[in-house]
Amino acid sequence: MTHDEAQALFTARHDGELDAVAAADFEDHLSSCASCRAEWQEFERALGEVSGLRVLAPPADFVRRVEKTIDRRSRGRFFGAPEPGAFAFVVGAVVVVLLLAAWLAYEVSREIVIPLPPPAVESPTATNE
Ligand SMILES: [Zn+2]
Repeated sequence: MTHDEAQALFTARHDGELDAVAAADFEDHLSSCASCRAEWQEFERALGEVSGLRVLAPPADFVRRVEKTIDRRSRGRFFGAPEPGAFAFVVGAVVVVLLLAAWLAYEVSREIVIPLPPPAVESPTATNE
């Protein structure tokens, strides 16, 4: 295993994603390579510091304040109070679309003509030799 190959495995090794063979190869290289061992220790130390950071919870009214800001800056286009009758309008539009679709399907089904095969009558002029 080269230095580059070993160092490319740092993240996978840290996350425990190496299989047994790859992990053994990795450890073999580290035990015989001082520079990669130093890089690995630095990598682990840096990740340890990052993982010590806390995740901060947002304030309780964060979402409401964001929505209010968006509502104000979009001049009421987004996240405003729902207009009365908006739901009824949507339901009405859906009903109209469904009725149009049903009517269209009915009209199309009336115009479908199943062609019949021509009668298989042996014509006497068809076999002129
Ligand atoms: Zn190395």
